[in-house]
Amino acid sequence: MPELPEVETSVQAIQEFANQSLESIEIYNPNLRWKVDTAAFKKLHGFKVSKIDRRAKYILLHIEQSQILIHLGMTGTLRIADKKSNFYKKHDHIELIFQNGRLIFNDPRRFGSMHYVTEPSTHFLLEKLGPEPLSKEFNGEYLFHKIKKSLSPVKNALMNQQNVVGIGNIYSNEILFDAKIRPTRKSKTLTKKECEEIAASSKKILKHAINAGGTTLQDFYKPDGNKGYFKIDLAVYDRANKKCKKCKKELIKRIIQSQRATFYCRKCQA
Ligand SMILES: [Zn+2]
Repeated sequence: MPELPEVETSVQAIQEFANQSLESIEIYNPNLRWKVDTAAFKKLHGFKVSKIDRRAKYILLHIEQSQILIHLGMTGTLRIADKKSNFYKKHDHIELIFQNGRLIFNDPRRFGSMHYVTEPSTHFLLEKLGPEPLSKEFNGEYLFHKIKKSLSPVKNALMNQQNVVGIGNIYSNEILFDAKIRPTRKSKTLTKKECEEIAASSKKILKHAINAGGTTLQDFYKPDGNKGYFKIDLAVYDRANKKCKKCKKELIKRIIQSQRATFYCRKCQA
């Protein structure tokens, strides 16, 4: 599943459509996680995209006073196609046709979504989201107060989008390894100092991944249509029974937490 770095990479990769007119939106298959409102999108035909950005893992194309809100779900990808190209793939759901190119939303497993939005801050998908991990608002002090009464494991707390957005299974493992905190620790046992470590590691790991262009464990295609797999070096994720990269002695342990794989070093992470 794309996490924040992958979504940020997608946003950067489609910037060429900012300031272009959206000629039309073709919906070939509206059956995504939520059925796409074909009629609503017709209102946007002929208008210019003023800005493309993201909130959490949602991509926002701003058009006049409205937004197109896209979530990539588990397997959703955006790819950029030439205006004249006739190349389509299985599971192409939606096509945004611009002045100088086309943007195609493909999603084999259909957990992605596309909404027509007029009030992003109160939209049901966005209203309860926590702060951005790279913002100043997300810091040790904030995290400490947010989770100090929580009985859930710290890994779950990091993946809870109401605490902080954009962190999924891969990066929560990486962040906690970097912060030397064991993923199974009850959130309420963390000290303020440890919360500061986690906040600092979150920023460090995510920035590094954004710079590297996102990980690509699944079928993550660069939106320009190339199989631009960039794989950052993961320090702990998916390294079960391999030597820890920090202590170089202990073997990485793999356990299951809330049906998701967790990896950690018994020596380095307390
Ligand atoms: Zn270790």
